[in-house]
Amino acid sequence: MFCPFCAEQETKVIDSRLVAEGHQVRRRRECTTCHERFTTFEIAELVMPRVVKRDGSREPFNEDKLRAGLLRALEKRPVSTEKVEHCISQLKSSLRATGEREISSEFLGSLIMDALKELDKVAYVRFASVYRSFEDIREFGEEIAKLGEKP
Ligand SMILES: [Zn+2]
Repeated sequence: MFCPFCAEQETKVIDSRLVAEGHQVRRRRECTTCHERFTTFEIAELVMPRVVKRDGSREPFNEDKLRAGLLRALEKRPVSTEKVEHCISQLKSSLRATGEREISSEFLGSLIMDALKELDKVAYVRFASVYRSFEDIREFGEEIAKLGEKP
């Protein structure tokens, strides 16, 4: 980063250490031009991306909404709460791993569908039918047939 005192681009790190129990890196820097010293902190960005909806509006990622959607699809299915929670944490990891600050609701929907496909095929079809709002019953049938082909 530029020197905050003189805006010079070249700064050198004179000390670097882990802080906050290893969750941050504190760096002491010195400007090569004005020799002022300053400190920077480096932390992992773990903020969940915001979701861009089809109409272009944005909303914060909502874990409760995700859980509610999954549980609705998994209603009366033989899937343990532990597996559902594991699925949610994996989805969150995938979202963070994108490194994006915004993701489309389509992308989020496709991640959820992929996860459900692994978890429970009936729940997957339920979710997909709502999410994609299948045009007609034939399209719905084709989706189910595809599931049968891939064991
Ligand atoms: Zn400077």
